[in-house]
Amino acid sequence: MGRLFGTNGVRGVVNRELTAEMILRLASAAGFILGKNIALGRDGRTSSLMFREAAISGLLSAGCTVYDMGVLPTPALQFSVKQYGLDGGLMLTASHNPPEFNGLKAIARDGVEVPREVEEEIEALYFGGGPTLCPWDGVGRVQNVDPIEAYEAAVLSHVDVELIRRSRFRVAIDPGNGVSALTAPSVARRLGCSVLSINAELDGRFPGRGSEPRPDNLEGLGALVEASDADLGVAFDGDGDRAIFVDERGEVHWGDRSFALIAKSFIARNPGEAVATPVSSSRVVEDVVKGGGGKIIYTRVGSVIVSRTMVELGIKLGGEENGGIFYAPHLPVRDGTMAMALILNIMAREGKPLSQLFGELPRYHQMKERIPCPNHLKERVMESIKGVVEASRVETIDGLKLWYDDGSWILIRPSGTEPVLRLYAEAGEPSKVSSLIERHKRLVREAIESLR
Ligand code: MG
Repeated sequence: MGRLFGTNGVRGVVNRELTAEMILRLASAAGFILGKNIALGRDGRTSSLMFREAAISGLLSAGCTVYDMGVLPTPALQFSVKQYGLDGGLMLTASHNPPEFNGLKAIARDGVEVPREVEEEIEALYFGGGPTLCPWDGVGRVQNVDPIEAYEAAVLSHVDVELIRRSRFRVAIDPGNGVSALTAPSVARRLGCSVLSINAELDGRFPGRGSEPRPDNLEGLGALVEASDADLGVAFDGDGDRAIFVDERGEVHWGDRSFALIAKSFIARNPGEAVATPVSSSRVVEDVVKGGGGKIIYTRVGSVIVSRTMVELGIKLGGEENGGIFYAPHLPVRDGTMAMALILNIMAREGKPLSQLFGELPRYHQMKERIPCPNHLKERVMESIKGVVEASRVETIDGLKLWYDDGSWILIRPSGTEPVLRLYAEAGEPSKVSSLIERHKRLVREAIESLR
C-alpha cells in the first residue's frame, strides 16, 4: 500500500505531486474515518482556494457537514475543532514549505494531529478506492464559521492581560506574508502593545522573506526592531504554528532558547511539573527545567510526537528548537500566537529587557552538519557507529545521542525525508563543538565507506 502522510501531514508540489483530485479523494476518505462534523481551514497559498473546493466536495460526498473556517493559522483551526466539539478537521497547508507546495493535515477531535494509525486508515481507504458515497439525500451541508474572535479570546485567557497592558510594549511583527497576520497583530494590540509590522500582507507567493523564519532571513525584522525602538520582534512561519523571537537590540534568538525562557518561568510557577522536548533541543532547556526542580521528558523529533507525548503523559508544556511552543492549558499543539503572548507575559512580569532575560540563560554553542548516506545503508551505519562510540550517557530515543562528562553532546540521526544523516552538536565552547562534529563526521564517513 502507498503512503501519503509524511512526518507532518500530506505535502507536495501543486498540480504535480498533489492535485485537486487527490485532495477530493483524500477528504472523502478522511471525512469517512474522522466523523460527521468536520472543520475545514486553509492557509494563504495561491492553491489553497482550489483545494478548498476539492476538499468540500470530498467531505460532502462522504456525508459530512463542513464547518468552513476560511483562511486562518493552523493552530486556530485546531483550536476550533475542539472548541466547537467537532469530530475532526482538515487543514490545507504546507506550513513553511516554498510557495509551490501545498498539503493537508488531518486533525483529531482533541485538536491534535491524528496519530499514525488513523493516517494509515485514511491511506488504506484512499488506495482502496475510497468510501461508499452517501445517497443523494445524505449529501452534507457547508456552514461558514469565523472562529478568530473565540480563538484570540482563548489565547488571551492564558496570560495576565492587565499586567501586559500596563507595560505598553512596542512589538514588531513579521508574519512572512503568512496567516499569522490574521491573529498576531490583533492579539498584541489587545495586550496593549503598539504594533509595527513587516511582510504583513497575506501573499501565497511569500515575496517578503520566504515562509520559513531562519536566522539569516530576519534582518528586516531586526532592522525594524532597532529603527522603531521596539521591545520585541517576532517572526512566524507560513501557517503560524512557529514563532522566532528577536530582542530589543535586533538579535535573533533561536527556538530552544525562547522555549527555555518559557520553560523557566513555567517551572518557577509549577514546580515539579514535566516539560517535553525532542532530543535535538539545546541543553539550556534541561538546565533551566532541572534547575527549577522540574522534569525533562525527551521525545523523538517531530511536532506530532511531542503533542501526542504531552497528551499521553499529561504534560502541560512542550517546545522545539525550530520555534514550536506547545502550551497544553490552551492546546497541546504548536501555536505561534500563543507563544508570543507567553513571551510578552514573561517580559511584563520580569520587568527586564528581553536581551537581559536571554542573557540570564546558560549559553552553549551549537553546530549542525549533514552527511549524505543512501537510505538503504542508514540503519546499518547507525548500528555500526553504536558499536564503536564511547560516551558517559547514551540515549537512543531517536538516533544516537551521546553525552560527555563536560556536558557537551552530539546527536546522530538519520533523516526521515532525505538520504542524509544529520549531526547536531552542542558544547560550552566553539572549539569543542567543532571538534565533536569533526570526530563523529569521520566515524560516520568510515562506517558508510566500510558498508558500501
Ligand atoms: Mg508550520
